[in-house]
Amino acid sequence: MTAVLDVSGATVRYGGVAAVDDLSFRHEAGGVIGLIGPNGAGKTTLLNVLSGAVRLSAGSFALNGQDLSARRPHQIARHGITRTFQNLQVFGSLSVLDNVLLPRVARGWGTALGDMVRLPRAHRRITAEREVAAGLLDRVGIAEYADTPAGSLAYGLQRRVEIARALAGDPALVLLDEPLAGLSRSESTDLAELFTKVADEGVTVLLVEHDVASVLAVSGRVLVLDHGRLLADGTPDEVSANPDVRAAYLGEE
Ligand code: ATP
Repeated sequence: MTAVLDVSGATVRYGGVAAVDDLSFRHEAGGVIGLIGPNGAGKTTLLNVLSGAVRLSAGSFALNGQDLSARRPHQIARHGITRTFQNLQVFGSLSVLDNVLLPRVARGWGTALGDMVRLPRAHRRITAEREVAAGLLDRVGIAEYADTPAGSLAYGLQRRVEIARALAGDPALVLLDEPLAGLSRSESTDLAELFTKVADEGVTVLLVEHDVASVLAVSGRVLVLDHGRLLADGTPDEVSANPDVRAAYLGEE
């Protein structure tokens, strides 16, 4: 069976330090994959690799059987891996709808320019894209804010805008970098439920998060990184019972 994500011997070196060190794993089913580990374990570096922002020093990764390790970020996004960032990156002065519309329109830019000379067709295309974007806002629970400037929303809702925008690229795999940071407990619980919903709709979610309890609650599989290597890999129950994880990560003997 072709894996959704196949990471093979992935290594990223910064000078003498391997931020990701000969890491290999395959993921066949969809669902939410939690990626946890202590500070400096290599989690963000791995997300940067999978989104094309950082090149591997060695190894490779493939999405649905297609090697993407030499591709540039926009190509990787087109092939089906999109992401959110640790620091919110919404366009504050644009409406919520336009934030989500933008990647869809930008993706078909060549076609849109061609369509300019045939305005009725361009108009139909934009109308169709607006409907798709509105549907995405509905999926992530922010339809009522479609016309509101994104920057004026509460922080937790802006996180949803970012997630809707990542989904706007029709990804097979979405990478979420600490999406729960800075949220209240109830916002956090609500947003974590959204990850399960997105996964149920067929998008594999790779969730990097410091809030371990939330990761264990929503993930079907949990990967634990330590010093760029896989320390543990299993169901939430297996991982939380693993003595190596408890010693290295939870500081227990
Ligand atoms: P955190 O949970 O604190 O965000 P992390 O697990 O995401 O940590 P990374 O940010 O991926 O870890 O960092 C892994 C290692 O690589 C760390 O030792 C870090 O200092 C190092 N590192 C990351 N980016 C760079 C860089 N651009 N240049 C040099 N070293 C880097």
